[in-house]
Amino acid sequence: GRPRVIVIGGGIGGATVARYLADLKSIDVTLVEPNSTHVTCFFSNLYLAGLRSLASLTFGLETLAERHGITIIRDSAVAIDPAGKGVELQGGPKLSYDRLVVAPGIAFKFGEIGGYDEAAAKIMPHAWIAGPQSELLRRQLKSMDDGGVFVIAAPPNPFRCPPAPYERASLVAYYFKQFKPKSKILILDAKDTFSGQELFQDAWSRHYPGMIEWLPSQFTGAIKAVDVAARSVVTEGETFRAAVANIIPAQKAGLIGEKAGLTDASGWCPVDPVTFESTLQPGIHVVGDSIIGGDMPKSAFSANSQAKACAFAVAASLTGSPHFPPHLFNSCYTFLAPDDAFTNALTFASEGGKIKTVKMFISKVGESAEARRRTAHHAVGWYSAFTADVFG
Ligand code: FAD
Repeated sequence: GRPRVIVIGGGIGGATVARYLADLKSIDVTLVEPNSTHVTCFFSNLYLAGLRSLASLTFGLETLAERHGITIIRDSAVAIDPAGKGVELQGGPKLSYDRLVVAPGIAFKFGEIGGYDEAAAKIMPHAWIAGPQSELLRRQLKSMDDGGVFVIAAPPNPFRCPPAPYERASLVAYYFKQFKPKSKILILDAKDTFSGQELFQDAWSRHYPGMIEWLPSQFTGAIKAVDVAARSVVTEGETFRAAVANIIPAQKAGLIGEKAGLTDASGWCPVDPVTFESTLQPGIHVVGDSIIGGDMPKSAFSANSQAKACAFAVAASLTGSPHFPPHLFNSCYTFLAPDDAFTNALTFASEGGKIKTVKMFISKVGESAEARRRTAHHAVGWYSAFTADVFG
């Protein structure tokens, strides 16, 4: 019969691989995903600011089944048997495959911040996987009194979407400026610099003067512990009271990666940058935030670009179709205010087994308001085109 591919994870990377493989019409594709819908993390900061509904960020997987012929199994993969080429599910029978693709996104290193675990995240949300966590944080921001302090704990590298904690600060500041102008935002950072720093700091002084304070790790930014009952966060030298606390912990590959022996000591999955086949488990490919992506940031755009390259490599290995070294891309839009966004665009190639940047464009400080408005407008167009590419 036709070769069988199983894809674990129906987020951005997994849905894209499944779709591009299924559209070749010569491979049976099964997608394993516990959730019936996907809520995009990208644009979820606009939701926190009251600028988008969560419904507008939510996509069903049924189009992938109905229009692209993918078999969707609503379950979690709990184990992989690389020798027997099988996947064990939490609820259903064991599945067998000719090739396996794993795209489980991120997991959190709970335990690196004292007192912060899954239960604490129900009081101090991370909102770094969109859905109920985003709704919780939005509710807390809405019911916060004017004059409160919103603390964001920004994680150490590498993590999902490097500019996003600072985009979050910008858009929540936009919300505070309208509804709670006496409030403050304090970013306690595990790092000493961050992605797009000049662009953000320029925008903060233009749009939200005096509202956002950023404390780098070297000035006791890094959080050591949280006290959920007291709603406080503890750094090396100081304890801060928060009206609302958004704790974004350090990250690692989605848990099935570790269970299946796909991760190395870093907690992420090493892959061949041309085929995205695991360097630890032959016959299993990994794409998206879970991988060691070299210069590629952990973004939806990157995951989608890797997924297409991976789909063609998997097809080539199963059907003998031609395979070429891939072109890899990332392009992100970041909002500073609803009509002020910046963009970066990068191309990548593999070099000596690693993914390296070839070309880079990034918006600059001092661009005209008109240019920034145009970028914000392009972002909205990108969102519709991109989600249609992923979810069909
Ligand atoms: P995900 O999309 O998270 O998908 C992983 C899927 O795997 C999930 O559906 C999960 O349920 C499933 N899964 C996990 N384990 C199992 C298992 N054992 N069995 C079955 N299924 C499993 N990126 C951009 O490009 N542009 C942006 O503007 C942008 N903004 C962002 C803003 C924020 C606030 C955040 C947090 C992220 C942002 N990102 C952005 C990053 C982007 O959301 C991620 O990089 C992207 O979702 C990664 O795709 P993925 O497929 O690796 O993981």
